[in-house]
Amino acid sequence: MTNSLTKRKNCSALPSGVNWTPVDDVLKQLRKRIAVVVQPEKISFHDCNGRVLAENISARSSNPPYTNSAVDGFGFYAPVTGALVKLTLVDGRSAAGKPFTQEVQRGYCIRIFTGAVIPDGVNTVVLNEEVKLSGNQITLSKPYKIGSNIRKAGEDCRKGQIIFEAGHIVKPQDLALLSAAGISEVSVRRRLKVGVFSTGNEVTEAKSSKKKKLSFGEIYDSNRPMLLALLNKWNFEAVDLGIVPDDVELVRSILNAATKDFDALITSGGASNGAEDYISKLLKQEGSLHNWRIAVKPGRPLALGEWNGVPIFGLPGNPVAAFVCTLIFARPALGVLAGAKWHVPHGFRAPSYFKKDKKSGRREYLRARLNRHGRVEAFASEGSGLISSLVWSNGLVELPDEELELKIGEPIRFIPYSSFDFS
Ligand code: AMP
Ligand code: MG
Repeated sequence: MTNSLTKRKNCSALPSGVNWTPVDDVLKQLRKRIAVVVQPEKISFHDCNGRVLAENISARSSNPPYTNSAVDGFGFYAPVTGALVKLTLVDGRSAAGKPFTQEVQRGYCIRIFTGAVIPDGVNTVVLNEEVKLSGNQITLSKPYKIGSNIRKAGEDCRKGQIIFEAGHIVKPQDLALLSAAGISEVSVRRRLKVGVFSTGNEVTEAKSSKKKKLSFGEIYDSNRPMLLALLNKWNFEAVDLGIVPDDVELVRSILNAATKDFDALITSGGASNGAEDYISKLLKQEGSLHNWRIAVKPGRPLALGEWNGVPIFGLPGNPVAAFVCTLIFARPALGVLAGAKWHVPHGFRAPSYFKKDKKSGRREYLRARLNRHGRVEAFASEGSGLISSLVWSNGLVELPDEELELKIGEPIRFIPYSSFDFS
């Protein structure tokens, strides 16, 4: 018993003789290395959904701009003590956009409508349904609360108050507050321009008419369309740079050209240490390769580096590994390059609906699905070429770096794919 336990403890999931960097260390290093690279620009607030704010925004106007009624009813001055029962209606009304400009005297009330300015002399509004009206007199039929149904000026936001901080990514509901606060123009970061290309002699593309069939040994490019779609979803300017064969000259020349035009590059394939793996080779020999031996599954080999000072995310060729590495490593880093804050995806613990034994020494991400009963199912196979597993799953299970013997029903960390979104 003790022997087998000791044996397991000493057993690592990764080949020995190499220093494998833990995921958290890679993320820490990335976070340190990366900073915003895009300049601010002024745009109309109407166009700022999904954009990254370049500076703090202070309200130019309070919301609500004036104290107003929350209901249709009658407004009057309620004394601190003593119950008011009968009030006389003034000649006039206060409606939205048509304020009553005189003071309402004590003992009088005014007909008032939702959104209307509360006139001087009024501190309480009661609903139409709560009064009896006869002639020009109302009788309050229910006890009322002093100050009820009144929305105070500035209770939502005050003039001068910071309503958004630099680095915030604008969501649809934020436009409502920007507008309410009188903001018409905002300073946002120019969208991050990210170039995407695939590498591999075997990688090709389905074309509707010219080329219907794959040649022997070819494979369709799954990574590029997926990565471009992810980047577009995250509101980056994603540019398709096509497929590059495993040829050192061609890979070097696309890196040289693309680093002139783009803020970051995402490549897939050719990141390992095989003879044909020119992304890692070139980064190592002629650029900089910051992280490569990363203790993660799926994801080996992932090459994080720079070419001409431009960050390169050299993803593995296997589509599952490319997808997972993009979510875990590229996504928060690209956010920072674009001017946003480092994004930590929200995960939560849920009971597992599967068993799993893992050795120590590397972080593992399983394609998983939160089922209708709130339990986490894992895809039956861990093959990192199984694109159908990505389609089946709605998130990732994150298994810790340490050894684990997970039993059915035990809680495990689940990160929904939606948590990798920026909003
Ligand atoms: P690599 O990382 O270049 O060694 O590729 C690992 C595996 O992923 C190989 O089986 C490749 O054929 C496959 N692969 C590489 N790039 C792509 C791609 N863009 N789409 C689909 N599969 C790919
Ligand atoms: Mg390859």
